[in-house]
Amino acid sequence: MSRRAEARLLSNLEQALADQKLYMLYQPKVSLRDGTLTRVEALVRWEDSELGSVEPSRFIPVAEQHGLIDDLTLWGLRTILRQWVDWRDDGIDTCVALNISALSLEHLDFPDLVERMCRALDVPTDRLVLELTEGATQPLIKLMDTLTRFRIKGIGLAIDDFGTGYSSLMQLRQLPFTEVKIDQSFVRDAARSRDCRLIIQSVADLAHGLGLIATAEGVETIDQLRLVRELGCDLVQGFLISPPMEASSLQGWRQRFRKAWPRMLEEEKLAL
Ligand code: C2E
Ligand code: MG
Ligand code: MG
Ligand code: MG
Repeated sequence: MSRRAEARLLSNLEQALADQKLYMLYQPKVSLRDGTLTRVEALVRWEDSELGSVEPSRFIPVAEQHGLIDDLTLWGLRTILRQWVDWRDDGIDTCVALNISALSLEHLDFPDLVERMCRALDVPTDRLVLELTEGATQPLIKLMDTLTRFRIKGIGLAIDDFGTGYSSLMQLRQLPFTEVKIDQSFVRDAARSRDCRLIIQSVADLAHGLGLIATAEGVETIDQLRLVRELGCDLVQGFLISPPMEASSLQGWRQRFRKAWPRMLEEEKLAL
């Protein structure tokens, strides 16, 4: 991105935040045991009148570099906690997961702030999960103190895109994670690559040994669903289950999915 393009993106993003133009879509994670909805991951969306729709992978790094990320994180938290309350009032008691930039975790008082926000909205802290990806410049181990504070408060911590980048087994052992999300690249290649299957299985085993939940990301086909189930994953997320959707669609999706799940397993039997 040119300097000029970046400056423009930044100023439009600032405006979008101020004007409440950003919004969240939500993608369910379901249990591979019985297909029940266990978590919902919030994914930010931005449609700019000038720039069109801009992907988070493009604007999050810009927000990080220019001091806008904390505002974005706080906006995200407020949004998903309020959304959780709406869903609960609708009879959906699930956990909500927010992707969080490691930069926002550098403030030691952040866990207190999050706890206060949960309390103000009457959201139990154990209904909140923070998803972290390890960046090249930000070894998560540096955030040990902050992460521990979150855990003491009951907030869940997921390591995202596990197996790519700099994520290491040591971090899995030392940091207080509750969930490992196995990167979608392994899932994508699982059917044709024995190595990928081995990695998924090993990470799931390791997660269980360490007392963590193993989630398979990016599941798009019935075959992949069957595979990650056989390989021992606990939760599944991906376009097959549902693409990210509007908050108001979750209730209807859940009802349809309840009926679809046993049929997915029927197909599984046929495929075997
Ligand atoms: P992520 O947290 O690993 O999210 C998964 C990405 O994969 C999402 O892309 C999602 O839409 C996409 N995805 C889900 N299921 C499938 C599938 O079956 N197949 C394929 N090919 N893709 C699938 P998205 O929404 O573009 O987000 C990209 C990344 O941007 C996220 O990766 C996350 O790291 C970051 N991000 C998204 N929303 C936020 C946010 O509110 N705050 C922060 N700090 N980062 C965010
Ligand atoms: Mg994520
Ligand atoms: Mg991921
Ligand atoms: Mg990612």
